[in-house]
Amino acid sequence: MTPPVREGGCLCGAVRFRAEGDPKWVAFCHCSSCRRHTGAPVSAYAGYERDRVAITGDGFTAFSSSPGVRRGFCGRCGSALTYEGERWPTEVHFHLGVFDHPESVVPTGHSFIEERLPWLDVHAAGERS
Ligand SMILES: [Zn+2]
Ligand SMILES: [Zn+2]
Repeated sequence: MTPPVREGGCLCGAVRFRAEGDPKWVAFCHCSSCRRHTGAPVSAYAGYERDRVAITGDGFTAFSSSPGVRRGFCGRCGSALTYEGERWPTEVHFHLGVFDHPESVVPTGHSFIEERLPWLDVHAAGERS
């Protein structure tokens, strides 16, 4: 079987990406920095080894939100795209919402659950409400 290839991109199409194989992990992040970067109450990411992904187009821009952290976005339309941090030096984390088929990438856990908004009811795969 050939490994899956997933593609995605920003809202305006200036940035596209391609990721080979299944992600190493998929999880929600409830931290306040992700919240500010995306404007959404929770983020969800798929983590890939850097050598499995390719980012194309001329719109990719990154903002260093804290030392060693790069948050990638489209410089034209503003879509939040990636997170890269020194803690995971070989990985690129893609926001699930920018995959062409996000339904195929299922979160199985949570990061920074202690920062979860109290009114937000969100479940990873296998969790009960
Ligand atoms: Zn764009
Ligand atoms: Zn976060």
